Amino acid sequence: MNHAEVAAASFDFQRARKALLGWFQTNGRRFPWRDDPTPYRVWISEIMLQQTTTQTVLGYFERFLARFPTVETLAAASEEETLKYWEGLGYYRRARSLRAAAIEIVDRFDSQFPSKYADVLSLPGVGRYAAGAILSFGFDKRFPILEANTTRLHARLIGLLEETTTASAQRLLWKFAEDWLPQESTRRAPGVYRRINGALTDLGRLVCAPVEPRCDDCPLAKQCASNRLGLQEKVPVLKKKAEPIRRVDVALLVFRADLERATAVDEIDGKTPRAPSDVLLIRRPQNSLWAGLWDFPRFEVVDARFADAQDFSADASLAERLQFFLEEEVGAPPRDYRVGKTITTVRHSVTRYRVALRVCQLVGSATNLAPREERTLFDSLEQPEPSGVRGDLETRLRSESFAARQAAESRWVPLASLPDFPLSSPGRRVADWLAKNASKKFF
Ligand code: SF4
Repeated sequence: MNHAEVAAASFDFQRARKALLGWFQTNGRRFPWRDDPTPYRVWISEIMLQQTTTQTVLGYFERFLARFPTVETLAAASEEETLKYWEGLGYYRRARSLRAAAIEIVDRFDSQFPSKYADVLSLPGVGRYAAGAILSFGFDKRFPILEANTTRLHARLIGLLEETTTASAQRLLWKFAEDWLPQESTRRAPGVYRRINGALTDLGRLVCAPVEPRCDDCPLAKQCASNRLGLQEKVPVLKKKAEPIRRVDVALLVFRADLERATAVDEIDGKTPRAPSDVLLIRRPQNSLWAGLWDFPRFEVVDARFADAQDFSADASLAERLQFFLEEEVGAPPRDYRVGKTITTVRHSVTRYRVALRVCQLVGSATNLAPREERTLFDSLEQPEPSGVRGDLETRLRSESFAARQAAESRWVPLASLPDFPLSSPGRRVADWLAKNASKKFF
């Protein structure tokens, strides 16, 4: 046995539990999902808390629960509406999994939240940690949990000088987490599993912090191997983080008014002030980041010469992809489209990527415009029925453009409707910027 295994095996859990629960009684955090810990509420909170801070989740939890108070209401909701209530929390796969799991609970478990480990684990989006959390917090069953806070706390308590993600470290840490929970056969107070797991999480979060843990205030200081050996700064041993990768993307503002006017004046030149109008949004494809949410058309800048550019009108690679997107996927008329000047930049991170999202205007010469195709773009996107007589040509254009509409999933959206659209998080920031600046003559 190595040093950490010895420390885990000889740990005095009975004494530690007493100290821990005493500390929890006066220092434990209050949350809506703790005050009324039904399995449904615990489940929603646990999925929301994955990759998201408690502070952020607090702003979403009650609103989500007010709209979807039961598993049946969530199962009956559309994916789009579920995503709308999730918008801003990120990692949208979680919202889709929640809805899929709600449908399964209604179908497979007669709308009753399952209480068997294998059943809970079989639900979409539920892994080992979430299953343990739902069963211990929601049902007060004897299941351990191991997340960032408890991993750090346990690793320090036993002085684990090994990367916490290795298979052997994980085995040891899960076993240690389980040993904290008294056997069901022993007499125990109701709610003890719920309280021990909650207390361990809070102690890890509030006292055994990643840097400068407050050992002087810690109820477990006397039993802690790291405190005894002065290993607090060395434990936990974390996997070395990969270097961030810089990336530049362009989000394109395509205004309907611009294109309509271009058909009359030949050019979208980026100089003539134009009134804001409907803007083009696309739906993010399945299996992509922010799948199912709406966004502004977005392109990566791959030509390194334009990595620091503010004007992309000379970027031929970008122009080619833009051309393809507008003509082939959206059904726009043939024209020399280009990405123009940067109006504003939105910076955000996705995993290792640090993205500078340049919000740009569309530039396009209409010299090649063909009258018959001129209206294809407008007809290919969802919009109110046009007035006036267009006759057979109108019918033909609508029919021809149907395939394009299906492929691109594009839509003209009035600026005033953007707040109601489920947008990707960077898309929302662009929309907010537009709302603040729509009255300015920036395009
Ligand atoms: S004594 Fe310090 S290092 Fe050990 S568990 Fe408590 S806060 Fe963490």
